[in-house]
Amino acid sequence: MKLPSTLQEAIEYFADAQRCLDFAIAMRWPQGPVCPRCNSLEHRFVKTRTLWVCKSCQKQYTVKVGTIFEDSPIKLNKWFCAMWMIVSAKNGVSSYEIARSLGITQKSAWFMMHRIRLALQHGSIDRKLMGDVEVDETYIGGKARNMHKDKQAKLMRNEGSFRKAVVIGMLERKGEVRTAVLNTASTKLLGEAVQKHVVPGSNLFTDQAAGYIKVGREYAHNVINHAEAYVQGNIHTNTIESYWSLLKRGIKGTYVSVEPFHLFRYLDEQAFRFNTRKDNDQGRFMAALSQISGKRVTYKNLTGLPS
Ligand SMILES: [Zn+2]
Repeated sequence: MKLPSTLQEAIEYFADAQRCLDFAIAMRWPQGPVCPRCNSLEHRFVKTRTLWVCKSCQKQYTVKVGTIFEDSPIKLNKWFCAMWMIVSAKNGVSSYEIARSLGITQKSAWFMMHRIRLALQHGSIDRKLMGDVEVDETYIGGKARNMHKDKQAKLMRNEGSFRKAVVIGMLERKGEVRTAVLNTASTKLLGEAVQKHVVPGSNLFTDQAAGYIKVGREYAHNVINHAEAYVQGNIHTNTIESYWSLLKRGIKGTYVSVEPFHLFRYLDEQAFRFNTRKDNDQGRFMAALSQISGKRVTYKNLTGLPS
C-alpha cells in the first residue's frame, strides 16, 4: 500500500495495526530497534506485548519510549492521524475537531496537540535567515471580552496572563519565518532576537520603530516610514504583516483561547506550516515525523501545574 496523500488515505493506511507499527519502527529506527537506555542493538521482541527486551541492560521498551508518544495510552494510529490533521490544516484545527474525528475526548486531543506542536518546534532553529528579511512585532491576546466570567476573573487576578503578548517575527522573502514571544518590545530584546535569527549583513526591512535602530547597524537596514507610504520600491514590511493576519485569523477562528503560556506553541505550529508551504500534506507529515524523537513533556508541565 502506498504512503497516504490525503487524510482519508492516512486513516485507512494506519487503521491496520501491523502496518502502523511497521511504519513507526521504520521512522523511529531506520536501522532496526535500538535500546533507548543503553543504545544496544541486541534485543528480543515480545510480539504479544509489542515490546522489545534489551539483551544488554534487560530493560523493556516500546517504539513510543523517548518520543512525544511516550506514556500515552492513545494508539499510534490516532497519533498519526492527529498529526496529519494538524500539519495539513491551513488555518489550524481545534482540539474539538480532532476529538470528534478520532473518537477521543477533547482533553486527550488537547494533550496530543500540545505534544505534536512540541515536535514541530524543532525545525525552526535549523539555520539563520539571510538575504531580504522583513522584521516586525505584533501584539496578541489580552482580550477578556468574550470570555466566561469565571475565566475573566481568574485572568484578572493574574495580570501577567491578562496583558497582550509581544511577538517578534522575522520573515525571509520567498523563504522561512521565525517568531518569538518577548517580555517587552524593548530595544534590547528586539535586537537580541534579530541577532539570534538573522545573519549579520543581511538586508533588514522594518518600519520606523525605534527598537530596530541599534541592531540595524549590523545589517543593511531599510526603513519604511508608514506615515509617508507603505511601499517604496522593495522597501516594505507587507510580507510579515500578511503573516500576522494569517496567524491572528488562525488563532481567532480555531482556538477558543490562547493562554500566553502556550502562545509559543501556536506560533511554532503556524511557522512550521508556513515554512513547509511549498510541500504537500504528505511532505509536511513526514517532516513532522522526523522531528518526534527525543521530545517528551508531561501533562503537568504542559498545563503549568505544580508537580
Ligand atoms: Zn539496553
